[in-house]
Amino acid sequence: MKTENIRKDFPILIRKINGKRLVYLDSAATSQKPISVINAVKDFYENHNSNIHRSVYKLAEEATEIYENARRTVAEFIGAKTEEIIFVRNTTEALNLLAYAWAMRNIQKGDEVLITEMEHHSNILPWQMVCKAKGARLVYANIRNFVLDMKDFKNKLTKRTKLVSVTHSSNVLGTINDVKAIGRLAHDAGAVFVVDGAQAVPHMKVDVKDIDADFYAFSGHKMLGPHIGVLYGKKHILDKMEPFLRGGSMIKDVTQQDAVWNDVPWKFEAGTPMIAEAAGLGEAVKYLNALGMDNVRKHEIQLTEYCLKRMKEVAGIDVYGPESGRGGVISFNLGKVHPHDVSAILDNDGVCIRGGHHCAKPLMHALGVDAVSRASVYIYSDRDDIDVFIKALGKANEKLGD
Ligand code: PLP
Repeated sequence: MKTENIRKDFPILIRKINGKRLVYLDSAATSQKPISVINAVKDFYENHNSNIHRSVYKLAEEATEIYENARRTVAEFIGAKTEEIIFVRNTTEALNLLAYAWAMRNIQKGDEVLITEMEHHSNILPWQMVCKAKGARLVYANIRNFVLDMKDFKNKLTKRTKLVSVTHSSNVLGTINDVKAIGRLAHDAGAVFVVDGAQAVPHMKVDVKDIDADFYAFSGHKMLGPHIGVLYGKKHILDKMEPFLRGGSMIKDVTQQDAVWNDVPWKFEAGTPMIAEAAGLGEAVKYLNALGMDNVRKHEIQLTEYCLKRMKEVAGIDVYGPESGRGGVISFNLGKVHPHDVSAILDNDGVCIRGGHHCAKPLMHALGVDAVSRASVYIYSDRDDIDVFIKALGKANEKLGD
């Protein structure tokens, strides 16, 4: 995988920030977009724009085909059946859909929902809502040395556990969870198994059937695509579920007092969906497929190793995350300097990193910090980016240290 060639596909990377080369190290928040994705969105509006599913004229047929082809492409990418792919706005909406449409109907008083201390708020707050409403208990498996404590997880997985929801890869620690093993334990206990794949699908080969997840959520905007998300669900479970939102497109029949729902996945896609965004996501998947997900992962491993090694040169730095078996997300603190100050100083050198709680306040609490700085790499990141970043960290240390 030649990063210098990949970089040419990303128009934004020629931008200068404060007169400096743009060093974008915030891909865990959202990725940059290649020209093929930008063109797919543009092409949709320039040549095919119309609403889908509801008309028999040529333009509407084209739009419908583009949208449904994107669904097919995404399904193949994660080893799912086409009808098991539901387009939503983002991972957050996917998990809320599950909370309202599955958990609110299936979790009862006295039941437990088991998650981990390393979850993003998107994989906490929907379950808090369900547990409060139903008189159920939200249980957290602990982390130890930045990885999930499997002994603690097993202890907390009981007959009362009705749902297990775990991040595939942590957006703060970079830790990659063995979701296949966790899923097997969850199923043995009789629980439904949900995976938050927001930080995994963009970076590694994911096969939802191999993992045996009942549901798997991820965001297109973190994997080169536009602002659209995906919820995968096993067909036999989706078939039995009530819809989340009600309105146009999701029905077969409506009478004054009643309605018959459409088949999956359309039952869960009420109203006009994000058609141009789906077209862009289809192109994003094609771009990743052309690179090969094994190469994407290899590049990430090499660059992360290089970055971690170079960070050891920075005085007074604390890194939060495992040394290996991890994704390309690196969180750290520079002594007592607030991460917002670190980000502001780095911005002077054109370096974009994120500082704060990263929507993971229970994890911050477990780590004993209020906030961390986070650099995250992707396919277009290279060693030059890391070198500029390390130099800028040295400057921040000189300016802000003590
Ligand atoms: N889960 C994880 C692990 C994330 O990193 C994020 C976003 O950073 C989300 C969920 C939420 O994604 P979105 O904002 O696209 O809904």
